[in-house]
Amino acid sequence: MTDKKNADAGEKKSGAAGNFIRNIIDEDLKNNTYRGRVVTRFPPEPNGYLHIGHAKSICLNFGIAGDYKGECHMRFDDTNPSKEETEYVESILEDVKWMGGNWGEHLYYASDYFDKLYAFAVELIRKGKAYVDDLSAEEIREYRGTLTEAGKESPYRNRSAEENLALFEGMKKGEFPDGSRVLRAKIDMASPNIIMRDPTLYRIRKTAHHRTGEKWCIYPMYDFTHCLSDSMEGVTHSICTLEFENNRELYDWVLSTLNVYHPRQIEFARLNLTYTILSKRKLIGLVQGGYVSGWEDPRMPTISGMRRRGYPAGAIRNFCDRIGVARRDSMVDMALLEFSVREYLNRHARRVMAVLNPLRVVIENYPEDSPEDMLECINNPEDPEAGTRTVPFSKVLYIEKEDFMENPPKKFFRLGPGREVRLRYAYFITCTDVIKDEKGEITELRCTYDPATRGGDAPDGRKVKGTLHWVSAAHAVDAEVRLYDYLFNRENPNECEDYKECLHPDSLKVLTDCKLEPCLAQVAPGERFQFERLGYFCADSRDSQPGKPVFNRTVTLRDTWAKMQKKGKA
Ligand code: ATP
Ligand code: MG
Repeated sequence: MTDKKNADAGEKKSGAAGNFIRNIIDEDLKNNTYRGRVVTRFPPEPNGYLHIGHAKSICLNFGIAGDYKGECHMRFDDTNPSKEETEYVESILEDVKWMGGNWGEHLYYASDYFDKLYAFAVELIRKGKAYVDDLSAEEIREYRGTLTEAGKESPYRNRSAEENLALFEGMKKGEFPDGSRVLRAKIDMASPNIIMRDPTLYRIRKTAHHRTGEKWCIYPMYDFTHCLSDSMEGVTHSICTLEFENNRELYDWVLSTLNVYHPRQIEFARLNLTYTILSKRKLIGLVQGGYVSGWEDPRMPTISGMRRRGYPAGAIRNFCDRIGVARRDSMVDMALLEFSVREYLNRHARRVMAVLNPLRVVIENYPEDSPEDMLECINNPEDPEAGTRTVPFSKVLYIEKEDFMENPPKKFFRLGPGREVRLRYAYFITCTDVIKDEKGEITELRCTYDPATRGGDAPDGRKVKGTLHWVSAAHAVDAEVRLYDYLFNRENPNECEDYKECLHPDSLKVLTDCKLEPCLAQVAPGERFQFERLGYFCADSRDSQPGKPVFNRTVTLRDTWAKMQKKGKA
């Protein structure tokens, strides 16, 4: 009951439930801290595709902007030059849009601020708050000290502003090799917060940037760029994950020292999911190592992978609402994400019949020359507006291999020799004979049907225990269906020494001889259905073609989340 209620709230608007961040914003609005404005931002680094963790951040930032009638800026934190970034930028924009993020005219790139950031750095130098250091990266690390020991000041720390200005300009002009010098903030080498021990602001990197080309050979560091980008854009609440908690002091120091507009940084716990890794570095490893077919592989926890798998954006948003936003790190069960997908598709996906492992059934008393026998089927019992469709019945059918047993145990209520079952929306049939090949494999069943049971009920009131799905052989559409399991076989793959060692060996099973009901011949890529009794399936956006459909199993019908809750595990 509560789940249903939450889900409905989720679909109305994201994050309808309160959280500690919204409490802070409410307080700021009450105190008129930011003159009534609410401006958030979503700032990915374009060094990979977005994943379900980013979806949480998208829902949070764009959700807040939507609910408070504010703005959410889409900003690429692209201070790290590298080759492949354009592909990542495009995929990120597509994924944010698909998730429902609407940035309006507020699309920004940190690289667009390089001139301004340089000017801010010069200002810090003039104020005696930054210096050029000639120590090597290794020496800087040695000088930094430890959690229990204060750091040591660099011998270059007390250069004059003039000398620093000249050296910094030389760095910009490319006069020094990579790694030979950096610009550092002059703060406190004895600070208990190690991040405050003269952090690096700029480094030399003679690498072309995907947007600024060869213009720069020095690049600003994240901590310097991020707060100033927020400030220049007039962001009010800069929401980031907990690992930046210690960086907040530096965020505040830069803005206060430069005496510029000062947004507020707020941290929340990042999403962790069972059977999943959410580190871009590791995801890149899976793609580059060929362990998956690419970033959009339906087993990947990327937004594009989930989209291809058939997860609706609305279901992902509902999931993000359910998990909420807190300051404590936690591991969310994959079963909850699947529950959200199942629950959403239950209401939105049309039911159809498909046989994945076909077994031929011949209805011996069905007339050879019967006129077309079209049976009416309900498209979605959860949605009366979805209406009905008709499905053809005929003398030769396919049922699921698993739905027949020659020597059925007590609890098996499906078909067996001499047994009667219902074919969904059609007739009662009784198995009269089993045909086998020379190896003893069952190749065909012979059955009889009762014409009086058309539509699926017996006028004499007799009951059957099993109802099977089926497809008429003469009308069936041949299809490929891909079944997915978790990509990893460990609940927490981060615990594996090498995450590639705990990849699930059977995470993909391809079935090439599937039989679908005729309406699925012309399915649109990305269209989703419930295959009755089997699960939810989505036409593959790359490989599915008219007349030759390819389906991905999105999720089964088994509600493992409900089971876990019953057991008190969730
Ligand atoms: P990685 O460390 O794997 O490279 P990242 O955090 O550096 O990931 P960014 O592109 O910098 O990735 O992230 C953009 C935004 O998404 C940031 O605000 C970040 O806090 C947020 N984000 C990233 N991962 C998660 C997660 N697992 N849960 C919630 N938010 C996340
Ligand atoms: Mg990052």
